[in-house]
Amino acid sequence: MAKAKVYFVKLSELNKIKSLLPEFPAPLGIKVHFGEEGNVTYLPAGYVKEIAGMVKNPVLVECNVLYKSPRSQATTHKKLAREHGFDFAEIDILDGELGDDVDAIKIKGEFFKECFLGKGLAKYKSLLVISHFKGHISSGFGGAIKNLSMGLAGRRGKLALHAFIKHQVKPEKCSACGACIANCPVGAIAFDNSGKAKINTDKCISCSKCISVCPTGAISIPWGEKDVNVFRKRLAEYALAGVLGREAFYINFLINITEKCDCANEEMSPMTSDIGLLASPDPVAIDQASYDLVIKQCKDFEKQNGDAQLEHGAKIGLGTRDYELINA
Ligand code: SF4
Ligand code: SF4
Repeated sequence: MAKAKVYFVKLSELNKIKSLLPEFPAPLGIKVHFGEEGNVTYLPAGYVKEIAGMVKNPVLVECNVLYKSPRSQATTHKKLAREHGFDFAEIDILDGELGDDVDAIKIKGEFFKECFLGKGLAKYKSLLVISHFKGHISSGFGGAIKNLSMGLAGRRGKLALHAFIKHQVKPEKCSACGACIANCPVGAIAFDNSGKAKINTDKCISCSKCISVCPTGAISIPWGEKDVNVFRKRLAEYALAGVLGREAFYINFLINITEKCDCANEEMSPMTSDIGLLASPDPVAIDQASYDLVIKQCKDFEKQNGDAQLEHGAKIGLGTRDYELINA
């Protein structure tokens, strides 16, 4: 595969992005992350607004999250997005109100033969994937690949990505309201002898509806990965499903580079100073270039080690790790 072109743009010269953008087949979805409630280092809406102004009929697209958050239901997700300044374009939450509206996209992956992506994605002929490049507890770093994969997966897809994950009820937080029991599609939850909700993990299909409806945040997923590299390779496969049959272009913002991702509901200090932004038609190349530039400036970021995303992405044809960095 030939070297991919990755363009470097200074933050103060954001207007240069316009000449780099391809002619997008309509309709175009701009894939973004609106930032978790309480997080202050997510990508500021102003930058996305400026880029959205460079394309015709922009629609901001996103999927719901698994855990208890305003972003786990479309209505509150959109409300939070607007509070975070994403009020300049239509917002389309692709996986429906509760994140269970998905399409199975067939791929020939090492881990997946089908990927469950937000159903609404089907109508978009092209994607402009705008990502905040930063660290991530499980994936090492989050950039274009992570935004495409986890970011376009519906609940079922997100759970497939974390297939080993079992839902748990924290009894001390359970108020015994019964909402999870009423909403569980497979009757996997019942009150135990102490009157607290308990999940039968043999019955549970990992849809995460219980997390969405629990008013006290008593249900959680014990995040982690026994073989974290498997998780990272799985991300690359979901990213491939996300772009299958559509044109895509990528912009990574290398600013506010924190150790953890924008889903962390906390204030974090950046690990290094802002670098600028990259633009490329190749999701692997842009993440590789982002990773290299951040490490060059901040050796500490090397411990994030998200190499498996890049390695597997190149292996399955999502893109190439060989790139040419061009000053725009
Ligand atoms: S994840 Fe879904 S299937 Fe499992 S207990 Fe919760 S609601 Fe029921
Ligand atoms: S929805 Fe939450 S608080 Fe209510 S019974 Fe289930 S776990 Fe307990």
